Amino acid sequence: MVHCPDCGTTLEETADIEFVEMDATTGFLKASKRFYTANCAACGTVLGSGVAGAKAGGGGGGAV
Ligand SMILES: [Zn+2]
Repeated sequence: MVHCPDCGTTLEETADIEFVEMDATTGFLKASKRFYTANCAACGTVLGSGVAGAKAGGGGGGAV
C-alpha cells in the first residue's frame, strides 16, 4: 500500500486521493492536454501528477 509521505495516511482507495485538474495555461503543456495532480485527501500533499488525454473544446468547466 501507498502511504502519504507527509501525514502517513494509508492510501488504499481512490477516495483517499484527490485528483485536481490544473489548467494548462502556463505554457509548458499544450492546451489540448489536461494536467492533473494527485493529492492526499487528508493533508493535501501532492503525491504525483499526470497528463490526461486530449480533450476537445477545452472550455474549462469541469470538476470542483
Ligand atoms: Zn497526507
